[in-house]
Amino acid sequence: MNHTDHNDICSELIAAARRCSENGMQSGNGGNFSARIPGTEEMYVKARDTAFSEVSVRSVVRTDFDGNLLEGVLRPSKESLLHGVIYRTCPDIHAIMHCHSPYATAWASTGMPLPFSTYHSRLKLKSTVPVFDTKSYIVPESFFPQILSLFKEEPETTAFLLRGHGLVAVGKTVREALFRAELIEETAQIAILERLLTAIPGNKPIDFL
Ligand SMILES: [Zn+2]
Repeated sequence: MNHTDHNDICSELIAAARRCSENGMQSGNGGNFSARIPGTEEMYVKARDTAFSEVSVRSVVRTDFDGNLLEGVLRPSKESLLHGVIYRTCPDIHAIMHCHSPYATAWASTGMPLPFSTYHSRLKLKSTVPVFDTKSYIVPESFFPQILSLFKEEPETTAFLLRGHGLVAVGKTVREALFRAELIEETAQIAILERLLTAIPGNKPIDFL
């Protein structure tokens, strides 16, 4: 891994964050993202109090998996510890996107796993997308064992939802984590609209079987 590769990872993270902002998946300065630096116990992570819309090289900092700042001047995201523990436990996960996208967050209020409302989501999301009710704006460390056991028991897990908070999508690359976050939001939007429409007498939900 050379300096250019590192720059590529940062550029991908910045582009992904801007895209999330532009497509309405994250407003204000919430949400965060990170990417593992291959071959190390380090990651690039969004700095605290930075909006997705204004992320720059300065607001992507380098930390270890305990969230200790290694490079940069801004403080890393409060969720760095969660991201680090996921990278440490799951060697196939290289990127994480977390945002407060409205439909996924609305679905999380049900406490039920996200229903795969389209053929595409069924094909791509594979494993259940569960909801964790952490009762907090940040994932407390007491929830880490539950989250890690999800990835251990279901290695194909692509994402999970946080009740009253948002979504967390993972991937082998920044691109994959971004696309999964977008698909989760799209799937939640369609699931919610489908349920509203099928409340009309005579309309039936899609039968995938
Ligand atoms: Zn959040």
